[in-house]
Amino acid sequence: MAVEDLEALETLQKDVPVSGDSALPRYVDEKIVRELHENGERITPFGAYYRREKGCKVLKAAVDGGFVCPNKDGRISKEGCLFCPKMGRTIITPNVDPRKKIEEQARQQMEVFRERYGAEKFLVYFYPATNTYAPPDVLEEMYNRALEMEDVVGLSIGTRPDCLPDEVLDLLEGYVKEGYDVWLEIGVQSYHHRTLRKCHRGHGLAEVIDAIVRAKERKIRIVNHIIFGLPGETRDEMLETVRVLSVLGVEAVKLYPLVVLERTDLQRLYESGRYKPLRYREYIRLLADALERMAPTVLIQRLSKDRAPDEERIEPKWDLYRMKVTTDVIRELARRESRQGARYKVGLTAEELTPLVKGATGAPT
Ligand code: SF4
Repeated sequence: MAVEDLEALETLQKDVPVSGDSALPRYVDEKIVRELHENGERITPFGAYYRREKGCKVLKAAVDGGFVCPNKDGRISKEGCLFCPKMGRTIITPNVDPRKKIEEQARQQMEVFRERYGAEKFLVYFYPATNTYAPPDVLEEMYNRALEMEDVVGLSIGTRPDCLPDEVLDLLEGYVKEGYDVWLEIGVQSYHHRTLRKCHRGHGLAEVIDAIVRAKERKIRIVNHIIFGLPGETRDEMLETVRVLSVLGVEAVKLYPLVVLERTDLQRLYESGRYKPLRYREYIRLLADALERMAPTVLIQRLSKDRAPDEERIEPKWDLYRMKVTTDVIRELARRESRQGARYKVGLTAEELTPLVKGATGAPT
């Protein structure tokens, strides 16, 4: 790194508020975030952060508990979200198979992760469909089995914001009190009501905010899944989404580009010429813009999708591989001499506000 780059980074570091200006508490150790930034990280990677917090490498072992989704089983709708395939599951791996016991699914991955990546501890990640969509006693039985496995430090649970009744959150709070980490991975996609409606999510913004507030009251950590490139959504709206989740004190994010898959309503929109997917450079620039406007304390779990199955993917055709996307966005931030949080700001500062007030009150300037 050139001397002038170092100087620019140092200046930037002084300017970036590491203590998150969020309305709700964020359960992240800000000291670790500061250290990561002092070491020159341009983003705040979840893996590096969590390794320091736990003192060893922690990876997620994904399991399929056989859950379904109320936006597909008729409880809310039978159509599903605009981008969700009508039948079947989109991602199937040999180790994540609902016909196997969850312990068996997790154990196979843990063995590989120990050997290949030196992982010592694990989160059991319940991920396909809505993993809180069952009676609390059924959930408790399943979560308990996961937590009883050796070296498991907690759960990561993928769900919808409208499937988190108090009874379920109370159950999760019990695990937090026992010393486990509980991460709720909430599919939000956008903080814009119009977009949620357009995507047939079957819930609005109120459910998202309500779920986050009630989970935070119980010290449950929140991951938001956000999609860029949703139909009709503008760049400013996408950037506003990351500011809103920052203010809400969301602990981590997974950002994805919208992918057009076979057997979706989005496919029809795309084929009729009414939807244009993001181009690669466009996505990288958008990510860099978004990261600059995101609080530095929001941990980055992903900046792209797992490779979608090629036979089901229609667009985009570019390489979705997350390591490539992450490398390219870090390069883009370096080119700008910028980093996550460099432009994080909500509202006007006192200096920005004063001239306006003077003008409005007619006070002499
Ligand atoms: S909430 Fe998830 S599983 Fe349910 S329809 Fe939407 S994308 Fe599919």
